[in-house]
Amino acid sequence: MDSFEGTIHSKLPKTGSSIFAVMSGLSNEHNAVNLSQGFPDFPISAELIDRVTYHMKAGHNQYAPMPGVKKLRMGISEMFQRNYGIKYNPDTEINITAGATQALFTAISTFIKEGDEVIVFEPAYDSYAPAVTVNGGTVKYSRLHFPDFLPNWEEVPRMITHRTKMIVINSPQNPTGSVWSQEDMLMLERLTEGTDIIVLSDEVYEHLIFDGAVHQSACLFPKLMKRSLIVGSFGKTFHATGWKTGFVLAPEKLMAEFRKVHQFVVFAANTPIQYALADYIGNENNYKNLPLFYQQKRDLFVNALKNSRFTIIPCHGTYFQLLEYSAISKESEPEFAKRLVLEQGIASIPVSPFYHNNDDFKVLRFCFAKQEKTLKKAAEILCKI
Ligand code: PMP
Repeated sequence: MDSFEGTIHSKLPKTGSSIFAVMSGLSNEHNAVNLSQGFPDFPISAELIDRVTYHMKAGHNQYAPMPGVKKLRMGISEMFQRNYGIKYNPDTEINITAGATQALFTAISTFIKEGDEVIVFEPAYDSYAPAVTVNGGTVKYSRLHFPDFLPNWEEVPRMITHRTKMIVINSPQNPTGSVWSQEDMLMLERLTEGTDIIVLSDEVYEHLIFDGAVHQSACLFPKLMKRSLIVGSFGKTFHATGWKTGFVLAPEKLMAEFRKVHQFVVFAANTPIQYALADYIGNENNYKNLPLFYQQKRDLFVNALKNSRFTIIPCHGTYFQLLEYSAISKESEPEFAKRLVLEQGIASIPVSPFYHNNDDFKVLRFCFAKQEKTLKKAAEILCKI
């Protein structure tokens, strides 16, 4: 086909295919054990599938209301009240989105314009920075401390200027599995007090937290809650990443602005899935065992790796385990990850692409949202390296 002949001034000139697409493609090509991209390899709840089918047959196939199906917004409100004791108004403070990615992009587009600065902790989930750049903002990176990947509270205050419009946080954190403490959240609350800074709190792994730790949602800190948009994803909570259904919680004034943009980005999210989720989230048994469920998978994987030459970096949340390999190879992370696929038949994700300067600490990320047999097979391969 004839190509476009004009000049394109790319808004993301340095961006290529995401590392997830690259590693998953390579993994499929070589039929490797795929612990790269973060998605479960086990089935989702049959009951939930039945509810979607039911609602499709019942005729719930046209546009949902712009903010989302009311019953689902009410269900989320009740869920937050049950889990955190905090009440969000389903009419004015909750919005359903086409996955957390759309929620994050829309939130950043709503509030960030030319000249604004956004603080992002890195290694960072890869959608934050491009969303800031596309909207004309500048990303200011604060590196999480290696190897516990906690924030550097001496550096962050120095990074705040009159241009700082937003701070993006993510706990439990992808790709590192670190979890912010109550003290971290209080630091952020104190730091932003009296400013116009908006906090975008990516809490998609809120239920994937281990060893008895308690998720420190931004909604638990009153002064933080007032300036925060909290993003969640049913893809993570109900093992259905392909359904791309998420949500945003924010005080009315922030939500009103969010909706102005949301209505023109997607208008509304998928209708029958929203109805099905509304039926399903009312029962807390459908998610309250998640910490134990994933902790058992983490422990199985980590225990099976005890005799390997990899160093295990403690994982406190998410479904990602970092393994450090400096005792095995001096290769860069992308080189080593690629070689593991080609020569050993196991796929992971290098962490360096999650840093804006591709910092390389010789660590790979392995997703343990997998069946026992997949994890055992992966560990067997890794122990031989
Ligand atoms: N935030 C983080 C930290 C994630 O890991 C992911 C998914 N990998 C998302 C957001 C996006 O979630 P969704 O699939 O609902 O768009």
